[in-house]
Amino acid sequence: MRAGFPEFRLGTVLATSFTGTLSERHGNAVERIPTPQRLLDWLSVSGLAVESCTSAQLELARELREAIHAAATAAATEAPLPSAAVHVINSRSAAGQAAAVLTPEGKRRWQLTCVEDALGVIAEDAISIIAGERDGRLALCASPTCQAAFFDTSQSRTRRWCDMNTCGNRQKKARFIANHRTRAAG
Ligand SMILES: [Zn+2]
Repeated sequence: MRAGFPEFRLGTVLATSFTGTLSERHGNAVERIPTPQRLLDWLSVSGLAVESCTSAQLELARELREAIHAAATAAATEAPLPSAAVHVINSRSAAGQAAAVLTPEGKRRWQLTCVEDALGVIAEDAISIIAGERDGRLALCASPTCQAAFFDTSQSRTRRWCDMNTCGNRQKKARFIANHRTRAAG
């Protein structure tokens, strides 16, 4: 897409795709929305396109992202929800004025005028998964450098990694290399 910026890793759940814009939180963290334009790009591919974004709005977005990460992590580990995070999520949810619109094709589309509206939709999505209203389970990625909160909708609820194409594969590769080394040494 835009050369020089880290690619997006898009999941099927809006709120945790959003928290995934900062990845490897416990390793070498990768910021995937480093500029206002990159936030616009992410919103656009996530069905939340708006026209403009200021640095202040990018800050609001990152603040919401970290609040969702903190609250979802607490929910996944059955710890009390951090009140500062809950406050940020609620503030963004209340500030958004998005309207759901039904298209002639029978699809839902969001009518948005600014970044705040898009953040309201993301905050609402986070509330619904943290509140346990949706079919699935919040869990933490098994990769020690990641530990991202993700929403497991698998039938068995036994998913271990936030994203099989990245963390899961990396883990498998590391195990393969480790096994190979042991064999070579022996
Ligand atoms: Zn992960």
